[in-house]
Amino acid sequence: MNQSSSSTSLFRRLRFVLVETSRAGNVGATARAMKNMGFSDLVLVNPRVPDVLKHEEAIAFASGAQDILANARLVGSIDEALDGCNFAAALSARLREFSPPIVRPRQLAHRLSSEESLRAALVFGNERFGLPNEAVERCNVLINIPADAQYSSLNLAQAVQVLAYECRVAALGEEVIDSRIGFEGEPAPLADVEGMYRHLEQALVAVEFLDPDNPKKLMPRLKRLFARTGLEIEEVNILRGIARQVLLKCRPADAAAKEKK
Ligand code: SAH
Repeated sequence: MNQSSSSTSLFRRLRFVLVETSRAGNVGATARAMKNMGFSDLVLVNPRVPDVLKHEEAIAFASGAQDILANARLVGSIDEALDGCNFAAALSARLREFSPPIVRPRQLAHRLSSEESLRAALVFGNERFGLPNEAVERCNVLINIPADAQYSSLNLAQAVQVLAYECRVAALGEEVIDSRIGFEGEPAPLADVEGMYRHLEQALVAVEFLDPDNPKKLMPRLKRLFARTGLEIEEVNILRGIARQVLLKCRPADAAAKEKK
C-alpha cells in the first residue's frame, strides 16, 4: 500500500469545507487545487449558486478534476460539514478579537500529518464576507496565510491551493518531493572515474597542455572540478570518448598500435 492510499495518510484524513461560496469558478478551482495535491474530500455548506456542481463555470475551472466535483457533498450547516471530524481549522484573512489560537499553514500541516488520529477539516469562507463567527467558533485553530499586509486577502481557491500544497509537502516529506525533480543517471563507479582521469591525462599530454615533467596541480584541480559534479556513467563515457579522439588525432600511430594490442 502506498503512502497516499493508506487510511492513516493525511490524503485520506483531510477534508476541505467551503462555506457559502458565491462564485462557481472558485468551487471548480478548489476541486482542481485539491486534486493536484492529492486530496479528494470536498464539502460545500450552502453554496450561493444554485446547482453549483453542474455549473458551467465550476466545470470549466475544475478542468481535469471533474471527479472531485462530482463527489463533492452539499450540506446545510457547518455542523453537518464537520460530521466525523475531530479537528477543524478556520481559514481567515482577518485576525479577530475572539478567536481560537492562530497558527501558520506550515505548522498546521506538520501537526496534521504527524498526528494520525486527527480527522481534520479546513474551513474556508465566502469571497466577500469571509467566515461567519459561528463557523470560526467551532474550530480548534485559526489559520492565517502570512500574505502582504497591504493586501492580505487571497482568492478563495488560491488560499485552498496554499493549504493543500503545505499539507502535501508535510505528508510526503520534503525529501520525497525533491528527489523526483529532473533526470538523474546512474552514478559512475569510482574505478571508471579513475580510468577516465588516466585517459584524460594522456590526452592532455598529447596536446601538450600537460607537461609530464612539470605537471603542477593540473590533474588534482581537474579531479576536484569533476568531484563536485557527481559524474554519471554516461558522462564518464563521453569524457573517455573525447580523450580517445584527441589521442587518435595527435598520435595516430600510437593509437593504432594500442588498438592492436
Ligand atoms: N474579505 C474576506 C476575504 C475572503 S477571501 C475577509 O476579510 O475575510 C475567501 C476566503 O479565503 C477566506 O474566508 C479565507 O477562508 C480564505 N483566505 C483568503 N486569504 C486568506 C489569508 N491570508 N489567510 C487565510 N485564509 C485566507
